[in-house]
Amino acid sequence: MAVLNNLFIPRALSSHTEVAALNYLPTQSEYKAMIMLDFTCQCCGFVGVSKKEVPSAGLEFVDINEKLTLLCIMCAQAQLLTRPVLSSQNSKQFNHGKLVYCPDIEQGKIISVVRDIYALSLYQRKNKNPQLKLYIDELRNSYIDVLTDRCSNIPLLKIKNNDLEGYAALYKFSPSSFLKHEKNIFGGIRYIPDDVVFSHVIKYWLNTSYHAVLTAF
Ligand SMILES: [Zn+2]
Repeated sequence: MAVLNNLFIPRALSSHTEVAALNYLPTQSEYKAMIMLDFTCQCCGFVGVSKKEVPSAGLEFVDINEKLTLLCIMCAQAQLLTRPVLSSQNSKQFNHGKLVYCPDIEQGKIISVVRDIYALSLYQRKNKNPQLKLYIDELRNSYIDVLTDRCSNIPLLKIKNNDLEGYAALYKFSPSSFLKHEKNIFGGIRYIPDDVVFSHVIKYWLNTSYHAVLTAF
């Protein structure tokens, strides 16, 4: 059996920014470090493209267990569940995703596929392509529909309806002795970001990072 990387189980860590914003301005040293890491998310492997209007490419550093880790906004939100996401209309969205119980697939893999689904769907809406639609439908069925249907609650924690805020509060107010064993307690939980809340981020990524993927269709 493959050993899963449990470093990125969903958490409610505290953040140095109050809200997740696509056009967040990294500090000079953060920006240099992003260049050194080639704007690559250390959880899902996504490679961002830095532009003048979005210098961070939609990535940021998050302190996980005292280790600064470069993450895309979606993977960052999985670590910072209580932090709202700034929508394209500048409203703060606290309900930015769903939680599912899915111990067999790593968090990074889920985010990676979900980003493909959202970005390619956005492209498909304007550029009808039956082959691409079939591909997206298959991915959506395996990575979103099946997971959310099968896991309408997180049984071990008795959290119903994929309640993100309930889980986040549970994590946030857990005693430190509890968190020492977080892999045993929370290790099977995964985060699925919401397509509407992240739509502006997805649009930016589609326009900057998806050229190679789209040439295959
Ligand atoms: Zn990521």
